[in-house]
Amino acid sequence: MRRPLIAGNWKMNLTRSEAVALAEAVAKQADQYPTVDIAVCPPFVYLEAVGRAIAGSRVALGAQNMYPEPSGAFTGEISPMMLCEMGCRYVILGHSERRQWLGETDSFINKKVHAALKAGLQPIVCLGEQLAEREAGHTLEVIRAQFEGSLAGLTAQQMIQTVIAYEPVWAIGTGKVATPHQAEEVHLELRKLIAQRYNPEIAQQVVIQYGGSVKPDNAQELFAQPDIDGALVGGASLKPDQFLGIIAGMKK
Ligand code: PEP
Repeated sequence: MRRPLIAGNWKMNLTRSEAVALAEAVAKQADQYPTVDIAVCPPFVYLEAVGRAIAGSRVALGAQNMYPEPSGAFTGEISPMMLCEMGCRYVILGHSERRQWLGETDSFINKKVHAALKAGLQPIVCLGEQLAEREAGHTLEVIRAQFEGSLAGLTAQQMIQTVIAYEPVWAIGTGKVATPHQAEEVHLELRKLIAQRYNPEIAQQVVIQYGGSVKPDNAQELFAQPDIDGALVGGASLKPDQFLGIIAGMKK
């Protein structure tokens, strides 16, 4: 059966020493939550230092992005193998900030997903609708298109290795969280899409996180939904007490 995953997306924040201190604080408490998988995703340049800070703990390392080619003339980019060498288990792909500000498309994200899986990394694939799309009643349509595009061509085994993060764009960094009902509706739809493409057993094994202004005071009601398997956390993952407070909300 699937295990919930709570991952911190630190984005482009923190100094090196702040990153190490945060990682150490999370690692120190992680043993208290044996039923939850925990990951931190620092900026590339802190991966090695953070990896050392969490070594031997239950906290896994993740990156925030990668390039889909194994090596070559791609100035400024980072390959899947480089992330493996740094000790990464996860890589966040298709975050809405990258879709919005860096022009990432579903087909480019799909290439990255395949490259990550081939390298033995677990992709955390983000998808979610814009506010205007929700208001126009198009949420499920948008989710279906992103699912089909960014997760095209995966074998059943690769689908199980992949984490999906449903992140409504209007809830990211805004303090506006989706209601448990709004989030559960999309998570259930995603599970239906997986069941249709593979089968219901596969669908039951895929971890689907919610992301968007998750805080200790709203985590528990989100996590109480049957199809929400943890969270991808931005702002609140930068404060150890808040991140740990969210993890504590995971009782499943
Ligand atoms: C995110 O960026 O993935 C995110 C969920 O951010 P926040 O928790 O700050 O809304």
